[in-house]
Amino acid sequence: MKVRLTFLALLFVTIGLKSQDIERPKLVVGIVVDQMKQEYLLRYYNKFGDNGFRRLVEQGFMARNGHYNYATTSTGPGHASIYTGTTPSYHGVINNSWYSPVLHRSVYCAEDTTVTAVGGSANAGKISPMNLHATTMTDELKLFTEKRSKVIALSIKDRGSALPGGRYSDGSYWYDSGTGHFMTSTFYMDALPPWVASFNAANHVEKYLSKPWNTLLPIDQYVESGPDDSPYEAKLGGKDAPVFPYDLASLPNKNSAIRSTPFGNSILTDLALASLDAENLGQDDITDFLAVSFSSTDYVGHSFGPHAIEVQDTYLRLDKDLERLFAALDAKVGKGEYVVFLTADHGVADNSKRMNDDGFLAKNFSYRRLNTAVTEMLKEKYGDEKWMEGSMVLDRKLVAEKGHDRVAMQRTIADFVNQYPGVYKAYTASDLTTHEYTKGNANLVQNGYHIDQSADVLVVLDPGSQGGGSRGTSHGNSWNYDTHVPILFYGWGVKQGSSVRHIAITDIAPTVSMLLNMRMPNATTGQPIQEVFK
Ligand SMILES: [Zn+2]
Repeated sequence: MKVRLTFLALLFVTIGLKSQDIERPKLVVGIVVDQMKQEYLLRYYNKFGDNGFRRLVEQGFMARNGHYNYATTSTGPGHASIYTGTTPSYHGVINNSWYSPVLHRSVYCAEDTTVTAVGGSANAGKISPMNLHATTMTDELKLFTEKRSKVIALSIKDRGSALPGGRYSDGSYWYDSGTGHFMTSTFYMDALPPWVASFNAANHVEKYLSKPWNTLLPIDQYVESGPDDSPYEAKLGGKDAPVFPYDLASLPNKNSAIRSTPFGNSILTDLALASLDAENLGQDDITDFLAVSFSSTDYVGHSFGPHAIEVQDTYLRLDKDLERLFAALDAKVGKGEYVVFLTADHGVADNSKRMNDDGFLAKNFSYRRLNTAVTEMLKEKYGDEKWMEGSMVLDRKLVAEKGHDRVAMQRTIADFVNQYPGVYKAYTASDLTTHEYTKGNANLVQNGYHIDQSADVLVVLDPGSQGGGSRGTSHGNSWNYDTHVPILFYGWGVKQGSSVRHIAITDIAPTVSMLLNMRMPNATTGQPIQEVFK
């Protein structure tokens, strides 16, 4: 024992540390892949290279049963929940857009009317994380280090950048489909830094779209996907059929179209590599944070659906982009000096028309028609007034003026909606505020219900149903295909392994907090993932 202690003491003296010193990684890299179901990791696994997704799985930790623990599953709430470690019921970002009963208007999750565009179109610049009611792990890192840490957040989508970067971000940049440039807002700075300006000047969009999009591998090797020509896929760029190759050079609006190709992810990877050098990320003993959110998987996924060769090819190409990113991190920050987590902001449903054609319950659902039906029903029952000021949001003032009970009206709406084809169940706001639902679907809906921001009635569709149209698909409900996503950890301090235990998306932020030996976001409800730790 004595010999051992002496040896340890000697070791610590040799490497210049006191025995009780806490060590931290040089950089955290948070990766979100928009719309990535856990299934994609497994279905495409044998086609991935060794140094992209497989490097994280084989050398890191994989939660095989990681889930969103609330409904509605979409990009804004997804990024907010990953970074705050809590659900929309606490952080307040309940959807990408929603009708706010408090503001009496529609709200966008990353909107901020007090700021303006920097480096891009005016209408794309009213963006900040101010709708978040809770702190993010990036905010906490800045607080913990007296702002000596650097936080950079990058995405094609503004919400994929603003929400992860948090309020103290040193630079949250997103892609402007109007100009084809990366931009930010006056919330962060008054002018783009030279490295972002020169990145924009290099015209990467033109570079990527000058060649046709063909499959990375010979197309007959895509046996994990359905036929290339399918009636359940949308047609890109005015083509007659959704088939390879895609002539990108002739697309009418290239700056916008690149988002719906795998090359939106490639251009973002180029920007991430540029940021490593320009911002000196991970170059000293104070932990920095790089948040990267790949959006093109979502655009491609919405157009073509989970069984399309286009989607598989987008993931095979993202795998190559990840390989480029990890190689750059190894070279610039050092292998073993950084920690990575990779997850998704939500999953996605199968194309509901295909499932319906195959005999399943799934339905292509129109929320607009449901809303019209509820409006008519309320008129018939309560008189000719505009009872709802937004979708499923009662005009509280009118209801009170006419002497009605809002709770009773909520119940009337819910009873009607429960009978509506394609609906699994409707929950009233009064039920969600007076009961504590601890399991099942009701628990997920309650976790997605915010007392100020949410509607009077919340609707969950039947399993398999979605509102994305008959071609392509969508997401947003609480069933497994929407909630089951990859949760991977790799690198500094991470023990290799996997778990089939149910792990929640809100567990990511507290896990990062524990790895960094720092504070948790202020409203965190998740728990650290024990299996990640050495
Ligand atoms: Zn989406």
